Amino acid sequence: MSDRDTNTGRRSFLKLGAVSVAAVPLASLAVGKVAWAEELPQLEESDPQAQGLGYVHDATQVDTSKFTKYAEGQLCSNCQLYQGAEGEEWGPCAIFPGKGVNANGWCSAWVAKAG
Ligand code: SF4
Repeated sequence: MSDRDTNTGRRSFLKLGAVSVAAVPLASLAVGKVAWAEELPQLEESDPQAQGLGYVHDATQVDTSKFTKYAEGQLCSNCQLYQGAEGEEWGPCAIFPGKGVNANGWCSAWVAKAG
């Protein structure tokens, strides 16, 4: 085998390696939103940011004397900022990055889901 053949072989191998590495993140994404949400730590109601926004795991427990804009039926699961999968109990929220919020929760940043 000449040097040239060897180099060509190595180049093809490197190309294949690059493809495999590139495929890994895509495969993780394909696992989906649900697995990602399950791995997130749950947001604590005692978290200072959660307290500031009046976040509760159960929207029926909202302190309506303090958070007067709350209206019955408003839930994390129907908030524009909720990123959880439908039917899941917990999901990510754009306001609390890296934490999961309860689908039945609420905070004062609630915005009606478009559409
Ligand atoms: Fe829930 Fe929306 Fe508040 Fe996030 S912004 S905690 S999804 S009500």
